[in-house]
Amino acid sequence: MPESEPTGEFGLIDWIRRRERARPAKSPWTKLGIGDDCAILDVGPRSTLLVTTDMLMDGRHFRLEKDGAESVGHKALGVNLSDIAAMAGVPRAAVIAVALPCSGASGLARRLYDGMAALAERFGVDLIGGDTNAWDGPLVLTVTLIGEATARGPVCRNGARPGDSILVTGPLGGSLHAGRHLRVEPRVAEALALHAAAPLHALIDLSDGLSSDLSHILVESGGMGAILDASAIPIHPDAREMSRVDGKTPLEHALHDGEDFELCAVVPTAEAARLLAEPTKGVSLFRVGEITEAPGLLLRTSAGEIQPIAPRGFDHLQNSVP
Ligand code: ADP
Ligand code: MG
Repeated sequence: MPESEPTGEFGLIDWIRRRERARPAKSPWTKLGIGDDCAILDVGPRSTLLVTTDMLMDGRHFRLEKDGAESVGHKALGVNLSDIAAMAGVPRAAVIAVALPCSGASGLARRLYDGMAALAERFGVDLIGGDTNAWDGPLVLTVTLIGEATARGPVCRNGARPGDSILVTGPLGGSLHAGRHLRVEPRVAEALALHAAAPLHALIDLSDGLSSDLSHILVESGGMGAILDASAIPIHPDAREMSRVDGKTPLEHALHDGEDFELCAVVPTAEAARLLAEPTKGVSLFRVGEITEAPGLLLRTSAGEIQPIAPRGFDHLQNSVP
C-alpha cells in the first residue's frame, strides 16, 4: 500500500476533508464542512442551517427480516436526529433515499415510512423529498436531515479545554442486546435544554462508543486528553446482560460499544457542578471524567490506578464483512 493511501474509515474521511479544504474556491455558505456531527451553513443574516446524513444497510446496521421495516425506518430517522441533537440544533426537514429490494418493494417502503412517521411528527420534521430505487440487492436507506441552530449557535466538537468536565446523558453499553440500538431516542430536547442552561464547550452523540466519540472531541479540540473515572461511568443493564454471555466486562461494553445515542458534553467544571446540583428538567446527567492538557485517553480504575484506553469504536473500512 503506498504510504499516502488513507487507512480505515477515519483516515479516509480525513483524506476527503483535507482535499476539500485545499480547494481554493469555497461557497460563502459553508461555515463548517467535514468533521463534525453536522455541517454548518450560514445562509443569511439570521439563519444557520445544520446538515447531516447517515446511510443504513441491511446486514450491517440492521437485519430487515429479524428487525422489521418499521424499526428500520425509526432508526434511520433517529440516528440523523441524534446528529442534529449533537450540535444542539432544532431538526426541520428530511430528504430520504431508498434502494429497495425488487421483491415486495412497495409494501416494504410503506412500512419504512410508517416507522419514520411517528418520530417525524414528534420532532416537527417535514419529509421534503428523496429518491426511490429498486434493485436486486438488500435494503439501503439514506436520510439527510436539515436543522437550524438556535440563537446561541451550534455546539461543535472542538471547544474542549483542560480541566473541563465530561458529562453523558445516560447509561451506556450493550445497545445490541434485545435490539435497543433500533429504538433510538434522539436527545434533541436534552441538548437544547443543556445549551440554554450552560456554556457547552463541546458536544457529540455517542454513535461509535464513548472511547471513540470522546476521542473525536479530543482531536478536534487541538490534541487534548481525558481521564475517565471507571466508577462514575453509568453502565446500562444491557451491558451487564451482554457481559454474561460474551465475557467482556460491563465497563468494556460501556466504554466501547456504539449506538447508545446518548450525548457526551464537555462543560466548564463549575458549570457542570451547577448542572449536576440543580438538574435541568428531563435531562439525566453523569460526570464521567475530565479533559486534560496531556493528550491521550486514560481510565482511573475503581482501585485508583491509571490505565490507557485504546479507542475501539466501529470502523466500517476495517470491519467490512458483517
Ligand atoms: P457521525 O458518526 O456523527 O454520523 P461520521 O463519523 O459518520 O459522523 O462522519 C464524521 C464526519 O465526516 C462528518 O462530518 C461527516 O459528514 C463526514 N463524512 C463521512 N463520510 C464522508 C464522505 N464519504 N464524504 C464526505 N464527508 C464525509
Ligand atoms: Mg454524530
